[in-house]
Amino acid sequence: MMKEQITEIFDIINDTEDFIKGGWRKEHEKITLKEKCVMPIGKVSTDSIEKLVSEINCCELCELCQRRNNPVPGAGALNPSVMFIGEGPGAEEDRTGIPFVGAAGQYLDKWLSAIHLDREKDCYIGNIIKCRPPGNRDPYPDEIAACKPFLIRQLTLLKPKMIITLGRFAAQFICNSQDGIGRLRGRVHYYEGIPVVPTYHPSAVLRNPEYRKPVWDDLKQARELLDDIESGR
Ligand code: SF4
Repeated sequence: MMKEQITEIFDIINDTEDFIKGGWRKEHEKITLKEKCVMPIGKVSTDSIEKLVSEINCCELCELCQRRNNPVPGAGALNPSVMFIGEGPGAEEDRTGIPFVGAAGQYLDKWLSAIHLDREKDCYIGNIIKCRPPGNRDPYPDEIAACKPFLIRQLTLLKPKMIITLGRFAAQFICNSQDGIGRLRGRVHYYEGIPVVPTYHPSAVLRNPEYRKPVWDDLKQARELLDDIESGR
């Protein structure tokens, strides 16, 4: 047998051994992660949404990084009228890296259309935490604490005219309150001077149809407020 053939056989055996031990997979994942983290050449180092997304893509600040398939940094217009803030990615979001694309996302699209907002042109959609909690459990306080600087930077960079929070965690975080969503919704709060309209999470409304009426009231309030802001009243 030729020397090259023997070397090739040993290479295959080594690769197989690595694969069985999980080494190939780990190495492959490392490369994929590294590729996601690289900033495009020639970009300036001041803060930007692009830089933020790159940091989120390689973030390992909490344990949620270990089981995610894709972080979900957020998506939408870079000068949005409204920033929607949910809780965290679900299974479909984790699979695609895009926020609100599952059943809750399709329902949210109907809400947007009802108040004449275009998802791409008028809105930026994000979450409190950027990686999926296993089994869609509630995020732990340490995970929210680790991830919150990303959201704060997003808000600083995007400067939305209005924030609509979806569900308890987002409302509590943005309104800096421990009250439940039932107490927080129904009035306008402020985050750094930006009006905040808290409402229920679309998933909760899909499970509890009695929330539909309060959500519609919140959306109408948000639309009226946005009309006032945009017309300078
Ligand atoms: S959830 Fe946030 S802090 Fe935790 S790993 Fe993902 S991006 Fe980092």
